[in-house]
Amino acid sequence: SGFTVAIVGRPNVGKSTLFNRLLEQRKAIVDDVSGVTRDRQYGIAEWNGKTFNVIDTGGFVANSEDVFEREIRKQVKIAMEEANVLLFMCDVTTGITDLDADVADLLRRSSKPVFLVVNKVDNSERQLEAAEFYSLGFDKLFFLSSISGSGTGELLDEVAALI
Ligand code: GDP
Ligand code: MG
Repeated sequence: SGFTVAIVGRPNVGKSTLFNRLLEQRKAIVDDVSGVTRDRQYGIAEWNGKTFNVIDTGGFVANSEDVFEREIRKQVKIAMEEANVLLFMCDVTTGITDLDADVADLLRRSSKPVFLVVNKVDNSERQLEAAEFYSLGFDKLFFLSSISGSGTGELLDEVAALI
């Protein structure tokens, strides 16, 4: 299917970890062009018999804070055009950062569904801390530990329901 899910967010929140997990579990095909540095990775995932494309954004290198922020905004805008649903990933261990708030502002203007994914929710203490992210104002929140895979099933159920 042409249904596309994009994972966006600032660096180090765990986007690629989730991307790899989604592909690994769902028998994915990653179009790997070796030797080419790309700012997006594409893969195919499957859940509940539904197949969809997954885009991992932000594999870029930036040499200044300015370029860095501009690059993240650019990636989010491209994803907003390419994807049918946006997974906005944040990190419970840092809480809401200024960059998260910037990305949230961009995503609120999207006509596409946005799922806020709070990652690194590895234990019940972090589950409590994650409640902070409701203040960003998105309707759909998911609490994940991409490293262990906990929470990914609920997220994928909601994604598959849109296809
Ligand atoms: P990206 O820059 O957003 O793609 O983030 P990465 O996927 O590269 O992950 C950044 C770091 O966070 C790595 O050291 C990951 O192992 C770690 N990480 C990712 N997911 C989790 C998680 O659920 N829990 C914990 N504790 N660490 C995680
Ligand atoms: Mg990454």
